[in-house]
Amino acid sequence: MAVSFVSEFNSLPVQSLVKHSQEARVQDVSASLAKSKLSLEDFANLISPAASELLEHLGRRSRAMTQRRFGKVIRLFAPLYLSNECINNCCYCGFSRDNPILRVSLSLDEMKQEAQALKEQGFRNILLVAGEHPRFVSNNYLRDCIAALHPEWPSVSLEVAPMETEDYRPLVAAGADGLVVYQETYDREVYAQMHTAGPKRNFDWRLETPERAYAAGFRRLGISPLYGLADWRREAICAAAHADYLLRNCWKASLTISTVRIRPCAGEFQPLTHIADRELAQLVCALRLMFPDVGIVLSTRETPKLRDGLIQLGVTMMSAGSHTEPGGYTGAGREKLHQTVRGRIVELASGASEWATPGGSQNGGQLTSATGQFNIADERSANEVADLIRKLGYEPVWKDWDAALTP
Ligand code: SF4
Repeated sequence: MAVSFVSEFNSLPVQSLVKHSQEARVQDVSASLAKSKLSLEDFANLISPAASELLEHLGRRSRAMTQRRFGKVIRLFAPLYLSNECINNCCYCGFSRDNPILRVSLSLDEMKQEAQALKEQGFRNILLVAGEHPRFVSNNYLRDCIAALHPEWPSVSLEVAPMETEDYRPLVAAGADGLVVYQETYDREVYAQMHTAGPKRNFDWRLETPERAYAAGFRRLGISPLYGLADWRREAICAAAHADYLLRNCWKASLTISTVRIRPCAGEFQPLTHIADRELAQLVCALRLMFPDVGIVLSTRETPKLRDGLIQLGVTMMSAGSHTEPGGYTGAGREKLHQTVRGRIVELASGASEWATPGGSQNGGQLTSATGQFNIADERSANEVADLIRKLGYEPVWKDWDAALTP
């Protein structure tokens, strides 16, 4: 690809924008709020410590803008984990290659069983998630999963290993319309420390993924850092620059930005940095004011209390009732649980890891479930979340109408 975000990213004055943010004064924040179109410097002002003093005002502006652009609507989606096999080692992820966890890859029928359970809960917007393992999660397998879902699911998105444009095309042809790829961290040094083995070590390849997906025909793109690796303001500024680039260069696609924070997982990684709940709320407001039409996604990584608050600030899309282990909704694939060592399936070692089942528990001495990617913080069912959304005066939307109307 001749031009890509990588070249723009390499010349981004990240340090000076972070400094700009840290040194912003309340009057700088007010000046940014008075503008109709914000620059990256303005965004840096809005996430500054000084802007935290104006959080209530930011919240009111963000809420009004969100309701004007999106209505009082929260779109619901569910992740369906296909496989927790992975050839990468990412320090913050339970699926890392070297973690002695219980693994499984769902067959097509098992995947359909899981999807049916989600459909019965009301979902019509599904995100297929898988670790990176070409042997267990081949492109043909993904294509078959998408093709099986497409007739009944108006929106099928993917969060899987990055691919070449040509490899994405059959997935789009099979019916996938959205692609989510988290950069994890925009700090090259931290990225190198966190990704100790596997193809994911290639920072630039990952950074260009949304562009390759767009070229292949995906019309919904999702990006985010994983907050908890590098300084959150630095990550947010880089993510904003990335979003700005995609809005200019991939303008036929709708864009979402997530606000994901690290959660406990196998491997027991401890976050390297901290972003407080109040700062996360400030970030949501700043993203909304900077990007009035971009979807803001909130996952079950956050607590019910925080999620309920953020619904009213600028979030437009939420997962609910999520399981992060393959087979989590129905128990599909349970009889195939195994460990994987150097790409080979091996018999289960007893008590493989305290993370071997959710919560580290066992059922009558039997391991019962594949290991999840991380522990969720909002354990309410999808219907409970939908009821809460209604109680707050918003409409929960299970089907993504934009996607349904796209030819
Ligand atoms: S973050 Fe993705 S690539 Fe890394 S170990 Fe987890 S599933 Fe694999």
